[in-house]
Amino acid sequence: MFGMAIHGGAGTLPRADMSAEAERRYRAGLQEAIDAGFAVLEEGGTSVDAVTRAVMLLEDNPVFNAAKGAVFTLDGRNELDASIMDGSTLKAGAVCGVTRIRNPVTLARAVMEKSPHVMLAGVGAEEFASTQGFSFVPPSYFHTPERWRQLERIRGGDAGLSALTISHIGTVGAVALDIHGGLAAATSTGGMTGKRYQRIGDSPIIGAGTYADNRSCAVSATGHGEVFIRTVVAHDICSRMRFGGRDIGTAVREVVLEELPPLGGEGGVIAIDARGEIVIEFNSQGMFRASRRQGELAQIGIYA
Ligand code: ASP
Repeated sequence: MFGMAIHGGAGTLPRADMSAEAERRYRAGLQEAIDAGFAVLEEGGTSVDAVTRAVMLLEDNPVFNAAKGAVFTLDGRNELDASIMDGSTLKAGAVCGVTRIRNPVTLARAVMEKSPHVMLAGVGAEEFASTQGFSFVPPSYFHTPERWRQLERIRGGDAGLSALTISHIGTVGAVALDIHGGLAAATSTGGMTGKRYQRIGDSPIIGAGTYADNRSCAVSATGHGEVFIRTVVAHDICSRMRFGGRDIGTAVREVVLEELPPLGGEGGVIAIDARGEIVIEFNSQGMFRASRRQGELAQIGIYA
């Protein structure tokens, strides 16, 4: 059995604010990414390759809040966070606060595979990237007018529902099980609109936004990062399975529906276990998501 799930962020998604054209672009982006990741698995590729492929496409797509199309910090910059974990080896890599790497997930993967470290930040991460032959893009590559307008609304003190809610949505992630029995997870984000510079969220933190362990499951999270760090969401789900005897659905629902809401932790997760069971759960109005298992068609969703 093999399969995978991807997400493109979660949060308050007022249906009225979503034009038919915007919805079409989100769905097309999810379809493209799930197809590409799934093709890797169909060809016998590893779960690490599949999640990397899917996340790279979502990073390149300006509708999502990761790499191109990332949200802006309060001082008008794009600071990108990403992480990846291989459930077969428990190796992991992460970067945070990078500003010139086109696909931060590929740099996170290089940290995992080519360095003795797990997490590199800012200029140190970019210096490592240059030693690994990465090419750089100018920071303006990540800019989109839509994200800039969201920053201006927040700077202008617009407390309107859409300004505060839809403005961070679009973090991306993927989880996969390959034909060899290996699990992997990856997450990439621009963070939250109007974040202070050098604020780091949950997405690059192993155990919070991303975790994978063949003995339990692979998880990628999206939502209010501060709360997801405090509740160590991804590792908590894996631990409930490994030490608490929960099945994947119970473990995910306990964390997303019981632990997060009392703390204001709006968001959701995608998860897959070693048998290919996929669980997608969110406590928000919506979550951009897609999944596909061996022998089945892809499923794509936005609203509950
Ligand atoms: N979790 C991300 C962060 O806090 C944002 C999101 O997923 O919407 O940086």
